[in-house]
Amino acid sequence: MGKMPVSDNTIESRLALVQRKIDALRRTREEGKGVRLIVVSKNRPVDLIQQVYRAGVRQLGENRIQELSEKAPRLESDIEWHFIGHLQRNKVRDAVRWATWIHSVDSLRLLRLIERIAGEENRTPGILLQVNITGESSKSGIAPAECVKLAAAAGKCRNLQCLGLMTMAPFEADESRQREVFAGLRKLRDQVEHSLKIDLPELSMGMSNDYQMAIREGATMVRIGSAIFKA
Ligand SMILES: *Cc1c(COP(=O)(O)O)cnc(C)c1O
Repeated sequence: MGKMPVSDNTIESRLALVQRKIDALRRTREEGKGVRLIVVSKNRPVDLIQQVYRAGVRQLGENRIQELSEKAPRLESDIEWHFIGHLQRNKVRDAVRWATWIHSVDSLRLLRLIERIAGEENRTPGILLQVNITGESSKSGIAPAECVKLAAAAGKCRNLQCLGLMTMAPFEADESRQREVFAGLRKLRDQVEHSLKIDLPELSMGMSNDYQMAIREGATMVRIGSAIFKA
C-alpha cells in the first residue's frame, strides 16, 4: 500500500488527493498532453489561498474581477491568475492587468475590447472561448455554431493568444450527460482546428463534481474549488 495521509480533512490532503486522481487519469489517456489544476479560490480568504500556495499551487482561478483585483496584489507575484467568470466590458482593464488567462470570452465585442486594452496595457493574455454546449439558457457562452467565426477573429488578434475552448456541464448532469458535454467540446475544438488550420491545445472543462470525466474526455485544464477548500 502507498503512504496514506494521516487525516483527509486538511486542505493539503484534499489537494494531494485531487492531484493524485488527476495524475492517475492522465496516465490512462492516449495523447500525452498534461492536465493543469487550477485551484478556484473565489470566496476563499487570503490566508487559505496562502495555504495552497505553500503546498505548491501557482495556478489560481477567480470569477469576479473585484475580488481578483483585491486579492492578487496581496499574494505572491509568481501566481498565474485565471479569470473564469463572466467578464463585463467595464472590467476588462482590470482583467487584463491581473489575469494571465481569461477563460470566458463569449462575444466578438468582448474579444475586440480585450485586444485593444491588452495592447494599451502591454499584456498578452491567453484566452479561451467559452461555449455553451448544451444550449441551456442559464449558461453563458457562445453557441457551437458561432465558434469558427469567433476563433477566426481571435486568430487575427496580436495582443492576445487564443489557445482553446472552455465549457461547464450542467451541475446536476449524470455521468453520461457529462461525457456528452465534454466530448462535445473536444469534437468542436477538433472541427475548429481543422476548418481554420489552427491549434487550440487547451480544453478548460471539469469542476469538483465532474473533473474526472472531463479528463477522460480530454481536459487540459480543470477548475477545482470546493473539493479542495471545503471540509
Ligand atoms: C466556481 C467555479 C468553479 C469551481 O467549482 P467547484 O465546484 O467549487 O469546484 C469552476 N469553474 C467556474 C467557472 C466556476 O465559477
